[in-house]
Amino acid sequence: MRSILVVGAGQAGLHLAIGLLQNGYDVTVVSNRTAESLRDGRVMSGQAMFGTAQAHERALGLDWWAGACPPIEGIELSVPGPEGGKAIGWSARLHTPAVSVDQRMKMPAWLAEVERLGGKVVIHDATAEDLERYAARYDLVLVAAGKGQVASLFQRDAARSPYGSPQRALALLYVNGLRPRPEHSAVCFNLLPGLGEYFVFPALTHTGPCEIMVFEGTPGGPMDCWGGLDGPGAHLDQARRILADFLPWEAERCAGIELTDANAVLTGRFAPTVRHPVAVLPSGAPVLGVADVVVLNDPITGQGSNNAAKCAAVYLQAILERGGRPFDAVWMQQTFDRFWAQARHVTSWTNALLAPAEPHHLALLGAAGRFQDIASRFVNGFDDPADYAEWFMDGALAQAYLDRVAA
Ligand SMILES: Cc1cc2nc3c(=O)[nH]c(=O)nc-3n(C[C@H](O)[C@H](O)[C@H](O)COP(=O)(O)OP(=O)(O)OC[C@H]3O[C@@H](n4cnc5c(N)ncnc54)[C@H](O)[C@@H]3O)c2cc1C
Repeated sequence: MRSILVVGAGQAGLHLAIGLLQNGYDVTVVSNRTAESLRDGRVMSGQAMFGTAQAHERALGLDWWAGACPPIEGIELSVPGPEGGKAIGWSARLHTPAVSVDQRMKMPAWLAEVERLGGKVVIHDATAEDLERYAARYDLVLVAAGKGQVASLFQRDAARSPYGSPQRALALLYVNGLRPRPEHSAVCFNLLPGLGEYFVFPALTHTGPCEIMVFEGTPGGPMDCWGGLDGPGAHLDQARRILADFLPWEAERCAGIELTDANAVLTGRFAPTVRHPVAVLPSGAPVLGVADVVVLNDPITGQGSNNAAKCAAVYLQAILERGGRPFDAVWMQQTFDRFWAQARHVTSWTNALLAPAEPHHLALLGAAGRFQDIASRFVNGFDDPADYAEWFMDGALAQAYLDRVAA
């Protein structure tokens, strides 16, 4: 039986570990957190997942919360105008509703599933020296440690990483009592040119359905304001203040909000980074990076968990196809390249949205208010961002598309 070790009990690592166990591999998961600490700890993500990522989970029978999780039926986009109203405001439905299941519920449950399927779980904060040991002992070592320190063993790919520093100050709050949208449920995505973004969407947490508020503040701007706050209540007050100052229609929905629990707040910032997928240890043994370790995007487009599921699905398929042949560095690079064929579109689109909007982006987002086809295409691109390359990312293609739709 081929033996595989996975470092990291997150979205990608556990998905992959369970898929491998279901296919008869001998799997060990090394996690620096116990199931209890994941469950009882701070929120980790917004983790809205679209149709394709959900299908990858469903293929392994892992969509356990499908019935309980409130669906996210569409996406609404708003840009404030100079008079306090909306300069741009439209929405469209997703072909398949998205869902967001609190990782504090999902990861402990999946960790238990690893053990139920006969996998071994080791609670340990894996170091570079540990990876040497693992590489000597296992047929394949996968590093799915997210933003963990061990990711720095993988070299930054400067050609694919245009930003050397964080582009947004992030804040995340899980709340109850937020007034629902009158039509269908949605990610309400608000763009504040020069200041940042705010989006909010339904999710499922320990205590039941909730809403997740995500603030993305341009560094040094008025939405980069989360440092030095005294406790979760102060974060909630800060969230209310930002909405009252910049997004009155969102502030109105928040009159009765309260945090879902004492750990329902997260703040931070990180530089979006693509890394070379193979780290060669001092002994010469190669290990393969997974998901956020190798393709870390800003959460502005809500793609990280989606990428993690897609990466896990690609790697699982490649491992199965490899049969009994060695998992060498060439195979590792080729396996990553299969993932990158999808992920590169996510990275280029996400990085484009972090930059000041190009004129053709504004033209398209404005026209989406008049042409539902454009709104629908933009919204459904969140599930398959490769589509944006065909019309959104390039000025000439955007114009041709606009002309076609208008005709
Ligand atoms: C504010 C915010 C909002 C987000 N919103 C969304 C969204 O709406 N939609 C979306 O798709 N994505 C979103 N994401 C991103 C998404 O959560 C991540 O991209 C996704 O969880 C990455 O999965 P992963 O498996 O690569 O890493 P993770 O899920 O981070 O898992 C890594 C695991 O490895 C463990 N670990 C780290 N180092 C070690 C070590 N040395 N030894 C052992 N274990 C280790 C960590 O503790 C963790 O459990 C958001 C992220 C943030 C910060």
